Amino acid sequence: MSIEVVLLGTGNPLPDPNRAGAATLVRAGNRTLLFDAGRGVCMRMAAAGTLPLMLDAVLLTHLHSDHICDLNDVVTTQWVMSPQPKPLPVYGPVGTQPIVDGMLAMLAPDVSYRRAHHADLDWDPPVEVHEIAPGVVSDEGGVRIVAAASDHRPVEPSLAFRIEHDGRAVVIAGDTVPCAGLDSLCAGADVYVQTVLRDDLVSLVPAQRFKDTIDYHSTVLQAAQTAERAGVRTLVLTHQIPTPAAGSADEWIALARGTFHGTIVFAEDLTRVTTDGS
Ligand SMILES: [Zn+2]
Ligand SMILES: [Zn+2]
Repeated sequence: MSIEVVLLGTGNPLPDPNRAGAATLVRAGNRTLLFDAGRGVCMRMAAAGTLPLMLDAVLLTHLHSDHICDLNDVVTTQWVMSPQPKPLPVYGPVGTQPIVDGMLAMLAPDVSYRRAHHADLDWDPPVEVHEIAPGVVSDEGGVRIVAAASDHRPVEPSLAFRIEHDGRAVVIAGDTVPCAGLDSLCAGADVYVQTVLRDDLVSLVPAQRFKDTIDYHSTVLQAAQTAERAGVRTLVLTHQIPTPAAGSADEWIALARGTFHGTIVFAEDLTRVTTDGS
């Protein structure tokens, strides 16, 4: 059974009319998993044929705003569409609990309005937070999820994830530079999804705040090096920084091509990749 990956949002923090924020859907066995919940995630989930109610878990790579800013929409939509209380497990690094607590505090007026208006909606959003460390996150229904430490300092801790099912493996790296934890997750993976940056372009922008982003993201070349070292089959470039010019996909792919000899996918919103190439 193949694992399916849908790049729901491929944007970076700067708003873009064609790219939603960081979010990736993974379907493995009978599990539907959401990795990060950036801008517009519920709209893109609908386009991918799913809804928050159908999620088995949300997993957060790190707590940067562009990866979590629409988590509240996932929580609210899951809650209002549930015929009965259905827990929404949210896995994330240490620090996830206070983020979710603050988010639920922000939602408290809305929760009170809806509970007052709908007699059958007599529970609060049932979010279950699991703050996790590197290691096995879960192993249910033939789907094993493993986390490793990534390196996105000063964002600490940050995590990358490997999803395994039926002999196949997908890695969702999140924002990170190459590191040992990422290498261990990527070893032999079928699909490796990496957020990437072009230092050749970002270094030209006359704004130090933008240049600062170079030191904590993988460049396209570094992503290719990680992919080649680990022997992955398909490298997916996402969350591209800077926002790619129209028609520039081949340019980005060419930067990886000299180093990585597998399949390279330049992700747009709703790009779909599977472990069996279907
Ligand atoms: Zn980040
Ligand atoms: Zn990011």
